[in-house]
Amino acid sequence: MVNTYGGGVPMKVVAILPPSEQVQAQVAMVRALFSGHTVELATNAAELEPHLPDAEVLISTAFTPLTRAMLQAAPRLRFVQVAGVGVDHVDLDAARELGITVAAVTGANTVSVAEHVVMVALALMRGLVPAHNQLAQGQWSLPYWMAHARDIQGKTLGIVGMGRIGREVAARMLPFGVTTFYYDIQPLPPEQEESLGVTYLELDALLPECDIVTLHLPLTPETRGLFGRERLFAMKRGAFLINTARAELVDEAALVEALQGHLGGAAIDVFAQEPPPPDHPLLRLPNVVLTPHGAGVTQEAQQRIAQGVIQNVLRFMEGRPLADVVVQGTR
Ligand code: NAD
Repeated sequence: MVNTYGGGVPMKVVAILPPSEQVQAQVAMVRALFSGHTVELATNAAELEPHLPDAEVLISTAFTPLTRAMLQAAPRLRFVQVAGVGVDHVDLDAARELGITVAAVTGANTVSVAEHVVMVALALMRGLVPAHNQLAQGQWSLPYWMAHARDIQGKTLGIVGMGRIGREVAARMLPFGVTTFYYDIQPLPPEQEESLGVTYLELDALLPECDIVTLHLPLTPETRGLFGRERLFAMKRGAFLINTARAELVDEAALVEALQGHLGGAAIDVFAQEPPPPDHPLLRLPNVVLTPHGAGVTQEAQQRIAQGVIQNVLRFMEGRPLADVVVQGTR
């Protein structure tokens, strides 16, 4: 008999999370909270495999794909709780067919990603990373700085995907005195456009207008490959691309080509292969700001995500309605 949070039927919960001290501490907390239930930690797909036959709940992140084969190997699995907003790493069609419920945690790292976008937009405008690297290597980088550093005030920003993160980016960029255009499949109501100081443009009209383009779309069959070679080269010459959304929105090989002449630079948080191989051409370019899929994992965001995951798993255990359901299962 379980006498703690989470109802009366003991369940096996497996969390697939990247190895870190923070995660170890969170899993210890979850174990204490869910005592009476079994809570296992797997840090990658190989460690997850032996748990698949009897796992009932999986806590999953974008770092480990949950494929059809993995879901098929889990006959007792009823619930996948994604620790974050992007659910593209889960084979949602397979989950639907197998009757497995999938839920996300939305909004927990919205502000963190938006702050990251402001940081890298300023870094790209100023040439911060190359100037720092030159000085750290013993060169006085003032001439480089003077040739490259520009103000963000007066520039044009394009936000592609005006959802939770896109809107927080717009709000944070407003005081910088930028002109902001946006594109979304669902335009904002006029009052919201006015309060955020943004103007709607179709994607192909927005691209040639903007000094900075930042992507905030989910990865779906419609958005995959949206930024192919043609669209990258349709961006303004010297413009900057920021991608904190998903790598597959952009043709990575075409981006590398565009960065060697057409574009001024790019800030990339997400890669087609994570981590990217050491000889990946993006790692060699001088005009990029690279981060390890970490725009949304500040200390505060991790705490908010962990709370969202715990609350939803408790709801599931207790048979209460779930938040942020993506696939309603039948198991
Ligand atoms: P959201 O759902 O609030 O916003 C997405 C917006 O995209 C919506 O306004 C939607 O209408 C629009 N959209 C969807 N399909 C479209 C299409 N085909 N064409 C045009 N617009 C379309 O999501 P969010 O919370 O703002 O997050 C956006 C994405 O950012 C997530 O899906 C996730 O992949 C990514 N993300 C990355 C990190 C990170 O650490 N790098 C963290 C959080 C989120």
